[in-house]
Amino acid sequence: MTDCVFCRIVAGRIPSTRVYEDEQVVAFMDIGQVNPGHVLVAVRSHVENLFSLEDAQAEAVARATARIARAIRNAFSPGGLSVYQANGAVAGQTVFHYHVHLVPRLEGDGMAFTWPVRNPPREELESHAARIRAALS
Ligand SMILES: [Zn+2]
Repeated sequence: MTDCVFCRIVAGRIPSTRVYEDEQVVAFMDIGQVNPGHVLVAVRSHVENLFSLEDAQAEAVARATARIARAIRNAFSPGGLSVYQANGAVAGQTVFHYHVHLVPRLEGDGMAFTWPVRNPPREELESHAARIRAALS
């Protein structure tokens, strides 16, 4: 995928400021920097989203995410840290190469997340859970 901006970053054809890399993962500074220390953890191979991620890639991303999160905390001492990952345009994905945002959070930083809680009855939760369990394979 030569037209993919993250594939070009991974290949070094577009400059990036890297903080970590291994066989599966490349982590670099987000040029948008919501707050200082904002890092993107991307898989090295072109994988569009979470649905296409192989287990070994998921494991590598999870390990790198936790390790880099601790480094961001130690380096910047933010009030908190948000992990953001989107799959599909409707979910807010804009670069269709799997990646995770690690966003250090500061009081009043203006980052917002709307979460419309609906609190359905228990029977509805049981029904949803049954569908997911049946789809696990
Ligand atoms: Zn790509």
